[in-house]
Amino acid sequence: MTVRVRLAPSPTGTLHIGTARTAVFNWLFARNQEGKFLIRIEDTDKERSKPEFTKNILQGLEWLGIEWDEPPYIQSQSITAHREAIQQLLDSGLAYRCYTSEQELEALRTKQKETGQAPKYDNRHRALSNEQIADFQAQGRSSVIRFRIENNALITWNDLVRGPMSWTGSDLGGDMVIARRALNNEIGDPLYNLVVVVDDAQMDITHVIRGEDHIANTAKQILLYEALGLKKPEFAHTPLILNSEGRKLSKRDGVTSINDFKRMGYTSNAMANYMTMLGWSVPDGMSEKFTLEEASKVFNLEKVNKAGAKFDWDKLNWLNSQVIHSWSAEKLLENLKPLWINSGWSLPEDQWCKDLSNLISSSLVLLQDGISQAKPFFEEIKPNDDALKQLSLPGAKEALKNLLLELEKNPWDGIEINKANDLITSISKDYSIKKGLIMKTLRAALLREMQGPDLLTSWSLLARIGKDRHRIRGCI
Ligand code: GLU
Repeated sequence: MTVRVRLAPSPTGTLHIGTARTAVFNWLFARNQEGKFLIRIEDTDKERSKPEFTKNILQGLEWLGIEWDEPPYIQSQSITAHREAIQQLLDSGLAYRCYTSEQELEALRTKQKETGQAPKYDNRHRALSNEQIADFQAQGRSSVIRFRIENNALITWNDLVRGPMSWTGSDLGGDMVIARRALNNEIGDPLYNLVVVVDDAQMDITHVIRGEDHIANTAKQILLYEALGLKKPEFAHTPLILNSEGRKLSKRDGVTSINDFKRMGYTSNAMANYMTMLGWSVPDGMSEKFTLEEASKVFNLEKVNKAGAKFDWDKLNWLNSQVIHSWSAEKLLENLKPLWINSGWSLPEDQWCKDLSNLISSSLVLLQDGISQAKPFFEEIKPNDDALKQLSLPGAKEALKNLLLELEKNPWDGIEINKANDLITSISKDYSIKKGLIMKTLRAALLREMQGPDLLTSWSLLARIGKDRHRIRGCI
């Protein structure tokens, strides 16, 4: 048997972290099992589905390094098969037309609420007589199509994450609507549970791996597989992603879309790496920093946890910094360059840019940090409070003046770093100024803050673009 799994996103929004994590788990499982990973775009909600969301979802998956093995399936193209399945259920008496109006359903819900019952359709139109049907039709009533769910139906499956699962029909909300409201004897738009079953069977899906919010749907879908005589896949329900308070991660937490993470400066490798750990326990002895390819070698559903996965920003940040620090200067520059250009900075020659990215590399957690860290090299910024304090220390200005005098006598092009060191040492000796005072004051003058990258390399970069002496002068 070839394993075939799928991601079935609805293109009603941008790629959500939960969907992306489901994609990661499906992809890892498929690769581990030497199977196929497929995509089905569930675009049957005509009002909310948008082509730009499909594009965003596919681009987001590509960005994460998740490739699919067959062209994406488009759910709306299988509408004939969906309607045929509904007709089959109607013909076999397993589904029926329900003429209950919205107002009647609302009245039922209100009554149930008042008596403390869970909302549930009371199956009132299960066994209408021909006269009753004719009467409803004569009234011009529309109807939905409902699939019969017996109260005593026992639904069981062995969930590959959660173990043995069992549901009873009475917990599923009454007979389930499988086609939207339509007039006359039309079949209205087929609904989620029905279409998913038909599509998964048609695509020969062997394992359905999706979020635990779909567990009740799985129970309903199993009944539909049985009613339609289709082969059931295996099911695995992955834990929800929780925020730091233990509640489902939502828009209120600031970021939920993969776009947001990308915009904040997270790398695709760190995101893919981190999402793998959101609910999956890394085997003992394996480093927490890995590629999807590496994880696919050892990924299994038994190691997926049942408990919700808390989103841990510190871990994601750590992974992101690890990824950035492992990049070559070329790769880092390739990623930083667009950010610098977007900041409106005109960039000197490539070697200089590469040297700058190398210099700041070790302090980057997010790619966006590459903007703030590079700023003093591109823009004239005002000294911050600490730098001002340093510049006002006794002897500080003196140190800068002497440095400038020496530089004017002996201009430095920034190429040989040793020269800068020698210069500082000789000024320290000749003018009896502590080396530490010279270095710190020079940092305040050149970078306008007291924290930051290696001083001599920074100085050399500024000297190479002719910005050092002017900055020192500005602080005297
Ligand atoms: N379109 C559904 C969703 O996005 C798919 C669920 C499933 O995997 O069956 O939640």
